[in-house]
Amino acid sequence: MNHTQQTKALPMIRRWIEQIKEHDVREVAQALGMTMKRSRSISPCPGCNAEKRGSSDSRGPIGARPDGQGWKCFVCDRAGDGVDLISYDVHSTPLRTLNRDQFDDVRKRAADLGLCTRDDIASKILPVSNTRRKREQTKPKVEDAKNYNGPFKWSDSLTDECINNLWSDDGQAVREYLLSRGFEDRTLKAWKVGALIVRDRNGKTVEQYVSIPVLDKHEKPVNMRFRSVPGKCLHCDGAGCRRCDQGEVKKTYRRAPGRPTTLFGIATLTEDHDKDVIITEGELDAMALWQLGFREHLVSGTAGAGTWADEWLDTLEPYRHFILAYDDDAAGDKGAKSVADKLGRDRCSRARLPHNDAADCLRNGVSEQTMRDVLDAAQPLLEAGLVRVDAFADELEDLVQNPGSLRGLTFGSMGLDAALGGLRPGLIVVTGDTAAGKTSFTNWVGLEQGRRGIPGMMTSFEQRPIGQVQKLLRAEMGGDFTAFTENQRRTALARLGSLPIYLLDHYGHLEFEELLRLISYAVRRRDARWVIIDHLGFLVDGAEDERRGIENAVRKLAMLAVQLEISVILICHPNNLSISQQRRVRISDLKGASAIRQDAHVGIVLERLLPGRGVEHPATAVHVDKCRSEFGLQGARVVLFYDPEACVYADTWEQTPMGSRH
Ligand SMILES: [Zn+2]
Ligand SMILES: [Zn+2]
Repeated sequence: MNHTQQTKALPMIRRWIEQIKEHDVREVAQALGMTMKRSRSISPCPGCNAEKRGSSDSRGPIGARPDGQGWKCFVCDRAGDGVDLISYDVHSTPLRTLNRDQFDDVRKRAADLGLCTRDDIASKILPVSNTRRKREQTKPKVEDAKNYNGPFKWSDSLTDECINNLWSDDGQAVREYLLSRGFEDRTLKAWKVGALIVRDRNGKTVEQYVSIPVLDKHEKPVNMRFRSVPGKCLHCDGAGCRRCDQGEVKKTYRRAPGRPTTLFGIATLTEDHDKDVIITEGELDAMALWQLGFREHLVSGTAGAGTWADEWLDTLEPYRHFILAYDDDAAGDKGAKSVADKLGRDRCSRARLPHNDAADCLRNGVSEQTMRDVLDAAQPLLEAGLVRVDAFADELEDLVQNPGSLRGLTFGSMGLDAALGGLRPGLIVVTGDTAAGKTSFTNWVGLEQGRRGIPGMMTSFEQRPIGQVQKLLRAEMGGDFTAFTENQRRTALARLGSLPIYLLDHYGHLEFEELLRLISYAVRRRDARWVIIDHLGFLVDGAEDERRGIENAVRKLAMLAVQLEISVILICHPNNLSISQQRRVRISDLKGASAIRQDAHVGIVLERLLPGRGVEHPATAVHVDKCRSEFGLQGARVVLFYDPEACVYADTWEQTPMGSRH
């Protein structure tokens, strides 16, 4: 099987490629500086440089498909999609022929043209197939929005109409409300704030809203938020009706249906990733801080509704530190905690404002200097804080109800569960000689967790993710996947893609600190509970003092595992001592063994058993050389049967795919 076939059988669809494909090929061509000619044609061809289709045909040599997803040159017959167009432009050859570095060149070029995102941390962690990611994405309900004809309906002129309202007689009540909150005209103008006036059939004003446009990176309005203006209900003139609260307008937030949910304040973000980003709970709070003199790195969640969109978190991911200026109440505590969990508690501080929120501070005349002092004094969120004992009531109940939860997650093997007390948080070192099947074993462990819905990440520095996908597919299909039909393969891959297993899209050397960052990202953003690292050697590659490098890596991984409460499964290759001494590998054979013995929570050695010598079928002995858990059995030896075609392990031969067929 050659490489092209493999790629075709198992499409690893990358996010940036998907992003480029969202553009019509003519948009891509235009971005590349090519010229649009009549009848959807484009000139010149990046393959043959022809500028015309023929001597008597003045159309461009390239024709774009009506669906915008493909192109073809009628002079040289080259063809492809939008990504290929960029690939031809950069390396004069289609994407599928490129090596890894050239591949990255195409991505860089596309990112420069604004056709995809840059190489960010999120793009490095891939689901096994792209199906899962798609399901998670929150697309605006365009159909609903099309049918919507209410007062909050979006139009390109909505922002201007609302601004005109605000500064006309109609907007007086809204203006007075904003003035009473301490906002100055310059702030309202800078943020393009306006007023939305809702009238009934007779032209009488019945509702009034502050309109706050959500601006994109280029300060262009793309969405609109509306906040009700408090006061007497105009529907009933204060008599009380179903729309109000005993005659008073209810505090409500609305937004224009079907519009993109851009992060509020995104235009204030600069490329300076070391500068703190201030996050407020609502739009008015962000505007209040702006008026107080904070002009950069000022963003807000959406007050009154919902959680943080994945895209917003992606936008903020590159920044080093965040100050959460959330309301000083229970809802604010909850909101701050939830966003900090996603951004990383170690990167977040919480500011305690002198009044409930930033807008209240503005109204109460808090000075810029006071606000700066308050934000500077923001406290790290890492500290556990003081809680009363009864805060643990639920957790205690859980333990009583499910005594099994004291133990780890099941491995999918009763033998392993008994020997190790289940898969528990901590550093698990896996070793064994070259043929012992360390990678197959850890792949199987990961797949079993994924099948149980426990999210996790696999990293391999020895193979591209496609190699790992093949191993997983083999296990999923119970054998050689090339023996199945393409349809069966696609179905199996879709099944794998629906599992919460993420692959680190990396190959070769990776800075150790970067790996730690990626792991904590996977835990925060993908809820990973386990991580497989294949293998230790790559983490200390190029270290001046290898032994010290190993000690450092092992210690940090063990600490991270405890801190994040995840299982870190680390493959280590042994030295050759066991071969010369003609015995099985031991944990003590590993380089840096003293650190591993001291810091690893579990150390297991795999040994392949050949049929005929004590076992009737292919099997692997799992030696538990070290186990810190009181539920495990240090010194135990578990025999797992091993299906070499499917790379699947089981307690009995009959439970393996191969064994079950006979
Ligand atoms: Zn051509
Ligand atoms: Zn009313």
